Amino acid sequence: MSKPKLAYYLAGGCAGCDISIVDLADYLVDVLEAVEIVFFAPTLVDIKYQDFEALPDGSVDIGFFSGNIRNTEHEYMAKLMRQKCKILIAFGICASLGGIKGLVNLYSNQELLEKAYKNTFSTDNLEGVLPEPKCIVDGKYELELPELTSVRTLDQVVEVDYYIGGCPPHYHHVKKAFIALLEGKLPSKGSWITMGHAVCEVCPRNPVFQERPKEYVKEVKRTIEGSPEEGCLLEAGYLCLGPVTQGDCGALCPKVNIPCRGCGGPLPGTKDYAVSAMNTIATILENKELINKIPAPVLLFYRYSLPGSALRKKIKK
Ligand code: SF4
Ligand code: SF4
Ligand code: SF4
Repeated sequence: MSKPKLAYYLAGGCAGCDISIVDLADYLVDVLEAVEIVFFAPTLVDIKYQDFEALPDGSVDIGFFSGNIRNTEHEYMAKLMRQKCKILIAFGICASLGGIKGLVNLYSNQELLEKAYKNTFSTDNLEGVLPEPKCIVDGKYELELPELTSVRTLDQVVEVDYYIGGCPPHYHHVKKAFIALLEGKLPSKGSWITMGHAVCEVCPRNPVFQERPKEYVKEVKRTIEGSPEEGCLLEAGYLCLGPVTQGDCGALCPKVNIPCRGCGGPLPGTKDYAVSAMNTIATILENKELINKIPAPVLLFYRYSLPGSALRKKIKK
């Protein structure tokens, strides 16, 4: 029997998701034996876009797309991956909801370019040159670059079959996802591949494990003030998003005294992650004055999901 063919593409991401596959360690050997990798760009396999374009449409069984859509090349590759792959997975929170880099949507591309190429202390750009989609180098070579767009999620460009959260997805979870894929035990189309438990449910700090109810938050604190080694971080005032986030990471951050920031993605049935996070935090604060003490609320609630949120439409530039 022929092995399932696998394609992987990294768009607007940091390659951390690629590393989460390498992190499969000994199970990686089983994966490499079980699948035939036909495309893995630009990180692991030296392959050209033309080679992938030449494959028959629908001939690849599983496609992983990591990173968000930040420019016209990513958009082209998203469409090509959709055309070639029977199953297309938004792999990691960048592809699924936009990721932390999706916060650039708070600014226009012009503002960002001005900041990055002109208005920083370390920039040496006396002529104020900004990157252009087309330019002539040495008076004779035409150089064409992809054009920047606003950050979009994969499903804002093509239809997505499954989503996997995490920044990057935890390797234990990646292993479970591969097992589900290779054994054909997938949830319904359009679902997140997740065990469906919140971070709180797998967090050893959860007061439920001490058989007592949760307490209201009496003050808002920042981790820079030093976070406690025991007890629920949210109760202590550190705005932990564990109650509304998929816990496929096994509560990695609270286990090392850091509040969950929501990279795992929304719990099943959630329409808008940030709205769900705001609702939950608002209901657990002891008084409404504490809302004004939340430092940088946009960065807290929309940290990983701004492009995929309902708010995106309001602030699109
Ligand atoms: S989800 Fe995180 S690890 Fe993956 S590409 Fe985006 S920033 Fe990198
Ligand atoms: S709120 Fe955070 S620290 Fe508290 S139980 Fe949930 S995940 Fe753990
Ligand atoms: S605890 Fe939250 S922020 Fe940390 S890895 Fe897990 S889901 Fe991501």
